[in-house]
Amino acid sequence: MISTLEQPVEKKQIIQEVEGEVYCPFCTRTVNATLLVAGKRAKSKPGQKCPRCSTSLDAGFVIGARRAA
Ligand SMILES: [Zn+2]
Repeated sequence: MISTLEQPVEKKQIIQEVEGEVYCPFCTRTVNATLLVAGKRAKSKPGQKCPRCSTSLDAGFVIGARRAA
C-alpha cells in the first residue's frame, strides 16, 4: 500500500540573523539592517530604526541579505 499523502516533516526552523538591506518606504532609501532569515524568507529584525529618518523598519521591504563572511 502506497500512501500518497505527504506527512508533514517536523522541522525546527532555524532563524539566522544576517546583515542585509531594507528599503525604507519613508525616505525611499535602501538602508543597512539586520535581517531575520528563516528558510527562504527574510524580514527585517523587529525594533530597528532607519538611520536616516528614524522610522521603524518593521514594515520595510527586504532588498536582500548579505552572506556573513
Ligand atoms: Zn528612512
